[in-house]
Amino acid sequence: MKKEKFSKQEIQDKIKEIFKNNPSPKEIKKAKRLAMSKNIKLKELRKKFCKKCYSFFNSKNSEIRIKKSLKIIKCKTCGYVSRYTIK
Ligand SMILES: [Zn+2]
Repeated sequence: MKKEKFSKQEIQDKIKEIFKNNPSPKEIKKAKRLAMSKNIKLKELRKKFCKKCYSFFNSKNSEIRIKKSLKIIKCKTCGYVSRYTIK
């Protein structure tokens, strides 16, 4: 068998798979590393976890507020607040 590195598409699928299964912070870090290695932008997926502690957001550990054109997500695990512009 030929030794081949994963293609960009395969990595993208892998990342999607990780995010589907309520990932742990460790898994999210891994997904981010994978994405960076292939220059893949996480786009919408970036909003699904805390940038600081890598907790996967759910209704229990996050607080979402909409303010004008901003979406503000507060991580209840570490207190970090992320802000995103809504387009
Ligand atoms: Zn956090």
